[in-house]
Amino acid sequence: MTDLVKNDGQYIANTYARFNLQIKRGKGAIFYDFDGKKYIDLTSGIGVNSFGVSDKIWQKAVKKQLKTLQHTSNLYYTKPCVDLAKLLCEKTGLKKVFFANSGAEANECAIKTARKYAVDKKGEEYFNIITLKDSFHGRTITTLSATGQDHYHELFNPLTTGFLYAEKNFESVEKLVKENKVAGIMLEIIQGEGGVIPLDKEFLTKVQELCKKEDILLIIDEVQTGNGRTGKLYAYMNYGLSPDIVTTAKGLGGGLPIGACMFNEKTEKVLGYGEHGSTFGGNPVSSSGAVSILERLTEEFLQEVNKKSKIIFDFFKDKTGVKSITGLGLMIGIKTVKPVKEVIKECMASGVLCLSAKDKLRLLPPLNIKEKDLIKALSVIEKALG
Ligand SMILES: *Cc1c(COP(=O)(O)O)cnc(C)c1O
Repeated sequence: MTDLVKNDGQYIANTYARFNLQIKRGKGAIFYDFDGKKYIDLTSGIGVNSFGVSDKIWQKAVKKQLKTLQHTSNLYYTKPCVDLAKLLCEKTGLKKVFFANSGAEANECAIKTARKYAVDKKGEEYFNIITLKDSFHGRTITTLSATGQDHYHELFNPLTTGFLYAEKNFESVEKLVKENKVAGIMLEIIQGEGGVIPLDKEFLTKVQELCKKEDILLIIDEVQTGNGRTGKLYAYMNYGLSPDIVTTAKGLGGGLPIGACMFNEKTEKVLGYGEHGSTFGGNPVSSSGAVSILERLTEEFLQEVNKKSKIIFDFFKDKTGVKSITGLGLMIGIKTVKPVKEVIKECMASGVLCLSAKDKLRLLPPLNIKEKDLIKALSVIEKALG
């Protein structure tokens, strides 16, 4: 086991500051390390393991496909990606899907689509995309450029040009639209990495109206907020929005890599033959797993998500050690009095895994976490908050 840490240090690129924890196996929201110590997982692999680990239904779907056909390339028809696209369209009312392998790639597709739309409709000088301060859209050079946080940019210049960063108020967005030639506005409904910051309904509605008026594409990045995480299938549904493009990834695959860029009637035909592609995109195994996730995100199930959300919000209300609590569904940020790093460390020592987002404690438990495990974990957090 110490070999694992040593070899990781020796052979894996130094990009991750890992916690001192070697996870061996798990079931649902419970992990075990190599010494058999038990942990309650409130991270779900950063919003990926929607139904926890070793989920039987997902395993069955994945195993079945694995034994049938693992990959063909996108030169041929395969069933799982079509089933998944159909399900996504039926559940959202969107019209078409492009499959990628990650959140960043899904966003790349959205950005390409917005630029192409502008070329077709308004002229190629309308290439600008507005994103928001504190946003996070990925780590490829272009999605890094889309990310409205300077500290991610510094070491990697020159980044892709044509991104403008607005403050989280309508006047700022409107000003940028007036002063620039704009193809799209891309935003997260709740900024995840930026600190679990929900955007308000009035702001979102006004941005949508502006997009309609100016024929600018509204792109919603649901990589983290999507697939039941916020108590609705997609977070934009909490506010009755109708975006032109929706991207998602993380929780969609239930643990296997997949990304999706979804188009409405306005954008479904923008990309044509040869204008975008991916070797692995829509992979049969990932797609089969994703179908088994999406099929279970029913109204009834989402009510359970919201019930557990309420348990968390009620629990931390007026607790000493808590400055504020934000989020929706099972995507929750807690501003702590104590430094968040210390809180996370203490929780881990007491067998509970949590995330941070900027200076907040971030909770993203598996959507099907058992209520009794959740409540146990909350009391551990309470102690760690001091
Ligand atoms: C995680 C995340 C991404 C990037 O997804 P990857 O799969 O890591 O490329 C993009 N946008 C948001 C909102 C995210 O939370």
